[in-house]
Amino acid sequence: MIYFDHNATTPIDDRVLEAMLPFLKTFYGNPSSLYRQGRIVRSAMDSAREQVAALVGVQPTQVIFTSGGTEANNLALTAIKPQAALAVSTIEHPSVSEPAENLSHQGHDLKLIAVDHNGLVTQQALDKIIKFKPTLVSIMLANNETGVIQNVANYAHQLRDKGILVHTDAVQALGKIPIDFNQLGVNMMSLSSHKIYGSKGCGALIFDKDVSLKPMLLGGGQQQGFRAGTENVPAIIGFGKAAELARLELAQRAEHSLKLRTLLEDHLATIPGIFIFAKNAERLPNTVQFGIEGMDGEMLLMKLDQKGVAVSSGSACASGGGKPSPVLAAMGVTPELAKSAIRVSFGKDNTKAEINQFIELLKNLINPD
Ligand code: PLP
Repeated sequence: MIYFDHNATTPIDDRVLEAMLPFLKTFYGNPSSLYRQGRIVRSAMDSAREQVAALVGVQPTQVIFTSGGTEANNLALTAIKPQAALAVSTIEHPSVSEPAENLSHQGHDLKLIAVDHNGLVTQQALDKIIKFKPTLVSIMLANNETGVIQNVANYAHQLRDKGILVHTDAVQALGKIPIDFNQLGVNMMSLSSHKIYGSKGCGALIFDKDVSLKPMLLGGGQQQGFRAGTENVPAIIGFGKAAELARLELAQRAEHSLKLRTLLEDHLATIPGIFIFAKNAERLPNTVQFGIEGMDGEMLLMKLDQKGVAVSSGSACASGGGKPSPVLAAMGVTPELAKSAIRVSFGKDNTKAEINQFIELLKNLINPD
């Protein structure tokens, strides 16, 4: 199989699995237990927390482990003050946009931050939002469909000057571009393990001292009381290892991805009717989303699948819904072109030969004669 869907999920790295296995078999103690087994597990979990913290430049106490990016995003939005207003961009992942909608149903005023044709928040949109005086704003760092990278540091600087709390969903950016929480200047940031060769069901919310979170899970008081429940130890150990590897290998992985992306885009440019979304915007090195005039993206996805190639027609969570992507709609892409969208997202183990094979298949599927 040619796997070109790393923005949906990544395979577990063998080195990550190796780090996890002892915590599934030998070291099964509860990290809250006071005897030796518990203490060993606690100490390993503390190291994983340090590894995740190091990847984004924070202190380990700023890391709350969650069940994934979705939970981290939901938890971040609990920082909204009572009766207060919030704003989120129009291209957020559903794990931000849906809890935001939910807060609006509970009486919070919600405003959407518009993006331009490249999927970038504009200064004009930001100025409007600042006038609206929300207490919390969420703008993702990199988009899961187009790969477009927002200038979060610039927005956060302006918002925080006005006393507005800033959250960024960095799930897709993690491990693909360098991230420094303090340089970004945000108050909260969401991460996920299974996008960086760790296991599924694990993520983290990074937060700073200005944030007052309301825990969604109450109980045993784990993780400074912000997220009760016995921690998913093997997954957390794996997340730590995956974070360490991402930190050490980030430059090399990004360079490799960019080479593949350039090769793919050069080939795509020779096929008539293909349009690369946000081509001229700063994008993740591993992501290309394109539309093909007159094609049905989901149909093409199925045909590629029959040939052993895994791609996405948009966000994995939304696929199968048959609706054109809200992200592309927010960028002003017509529903017809949006429905033809295919997203290719590379990983560290993809090769140039796979790109060449993919291009041949794509050409044959678009023009069968
Ligand atoms: N945020 C973004 C941008 C994503 O792409 C995803 C997953 O696709 C999530 C959040 C959710 O993360 P998880 O699958 O860990 O819940």
